[in-house]
Amino acid sequence: MSSFLKLFENKGDVEAQQFTALVLGVATLIIILLKMKLTRYPNLTKSFSSFPVLSTRVVASGGARPIVFITLGVSTKELPTGAHVKTRTVVDGKEVMRAYTPTKFTEGVCELMIRVYEEGPMSNYLYKLEKGDRVEMMGPTGLHRYGPTPGLFKNGKKEMRCRKIGMLAGGTGVTPMLQIMNSVLTNKSDATEIELVVFNTSAKDVMMYERLTQMADESKGQFKITFVVSKAVTADERKQLGGREYEVLSMRNMGKADILAKLGLKGEGAGPGEEVICMCGPDQFCKKIKGELKGMDNVLCW
Ligand SMILES: Cc1cc2nc3c(=O)[nH]c(=O)nc-3n(C[C@H](O)[C@H](O)[C@H](O)COP(=O)(O)OP(=O)(O)OC[C@H]3O[C@@H](n4cnc5c(N)ncnc54)[C@H](O)[C@@H]3O)c2cc1C
Repeated sequence: MSSFLKLFENKGDVEAQQFTALVLGVATLIIILLKMKLTRYPNLTKSFSSFPVLSTRVVASGGARPIVFITLGVSTKELPTGAHVKTRTVVDGKEVMRAYTPTKFTEGVCELMIRVYEEGPMSNYLYKLEKGDRVEMMGPTGLHRYGPTPGLFKNGKKEMRCRKIGMLAGGTGVTPMLQIMNSVLTNKSDATEIELVVFNTSAKDVMMYERLTQMADESKGQFKITFVVSKAVTADERKQLGGREYEVLSMRNMGKADILAKLGLKGEGAGPGEEVICMCGPDQFCKKIKGELKGMDNVLCW
């Protein structure tokens, strides 16, 4: 230290200042580089890695099924459109793995929106997470992909083209649909039309209402949406929910013609490369639709 100070004594003022500035500059650079290295999150890979929880936000805790948004730190830049991720944990000694479609996936941030089921091991595990905890996740998973060519879906090696996408989403099944809509509506050269029908038990269960209606309003007719609920909406509920419009209908009572009419699709009457139907939702919901649309080769289920 004394020899370091002596160096200053022996140098002129200007030289000493230049030397100090250089030392400080190098030290700052080392701190920045160290910080970048320390805050670099893991990449998403085909095997499980643990990702830090950056924040959590519960958006509806009044009902039986709260919804929680969890933001995880991840360094991978983007998830291919149509792909999802898998989370893993152990509950009561048993390994549990579930699929989720991030509502946001950009460099540094992966946002999951999770509906919490009373009896659900994974959703309850995720609901209880706090900032600083870590989650095991892998991906991209799933076979379906959309784009970047407008209107082009890939299902493994099979390709499907369309000018209009009919989407059927049951409850949380809206997230894979949202991902495709984002891809279409943010790409100026993609004129593919989208008609989405969202099914929920009650009006309170509808997820992402504001975001979806805003996207439809801003799309100038390219994206249309209908909200369907199986339980009648009471006057009180309608008031609480800001007077929103819902159709009261159950997938259980819908046949092929009803489904196609709701989606504004021609079905078998459509020409090749005209229409694709996408669906995601609870098993019973998808089973019913697959049964009704049996024989159609332009149907994709997430
Ligand atoms: C491609 C894909 C993407 C998905 N994306 C999301 C997403 O973004 N957000 C999200 O919250 N979920 C999503 N899911 C569902 C998710 O994978 C889990 O199934 C869900 O979180 C429940 O897991 P769990 O372990 O808590 O409950 P589970 O053990 O699977 O189910 C426990 C009980 O909860 C009830 N339950 C479970 N799922 C449903 C349902 N969908 N509708 C009605 N009741 C149900 C049933 O009573 C069931 O017996 C997606 C599924 C797939 C296939």
